[in-house]
Amino acid sequence: MKALFDSKSERHEVKVVVSGCLMGERVRYDGGHKLHALLTTKVAALVTLVSVCPEAELGLGIPRETVHLLQHQGRVRMRGTETGIDHTQAMRDWAEMRVKELIEDGAAGFVLKAGSPSCGLVVAIASGTESEEPQTTVGLFAAEIGKNYPQVPLIDEMNLNDDAQRDEFLESVFAYARAQREGA
Ligand code: SF4
Repeated sequence: MKALFDSKSERHEVKVVVSGCLMGERVRYDGGHKLHALLTTKVAALVTLVSVCPEAELGLGIPRETVHLLQHQGRVRMRGTETGIDHTQAMRDWAEMRVKELIEDGAAGFVLKAGSPSCGLVVAIASGTESEEPQTTVGLFAAEIGKNYPQVPLIDEMNLNDDAQRDEFLESVFAYARAQREGA
């Protein structure tokens, strides 16, 4: 990887936000985690990781009811899979506030849990709602990043496993951080 930062300490000043469950934190709906060892070893050796769990921070609890995304009257909604409780607006409002806070605090990239209704970059819309065709969308937390900060690099842990995609992501992170530092 190209040396975009001169020193080890400079690289460590670069912050990357990570879905908390990938850091090994027990924040999933069932109280479990999805530790991604490559993150906590190779990636953590290069940058400072900042853990965030949108569903836990929103206050849905641990453990909690699972949520899914579905289409309702042409719009994507986040609802509890059993109770149908609608978390859409609460999650959107919280995500807008939290993403802004993270970016202002120097976040230069995000590594997000694949497939999650909150964190996923590509998420299946639950079937049997308004269309029989399989459809996908973006998780509500991830969507707020893409909407308001489209220049900030994003990747999910599946693509992070690929050496070329991981290097490209990290180069983009360092380039973004450097541009922010230089006031570009
Ligand atoms: S995928 Fe996102 S919302 Fe779900 S447990 Fe992991 S960090 Fe929390």
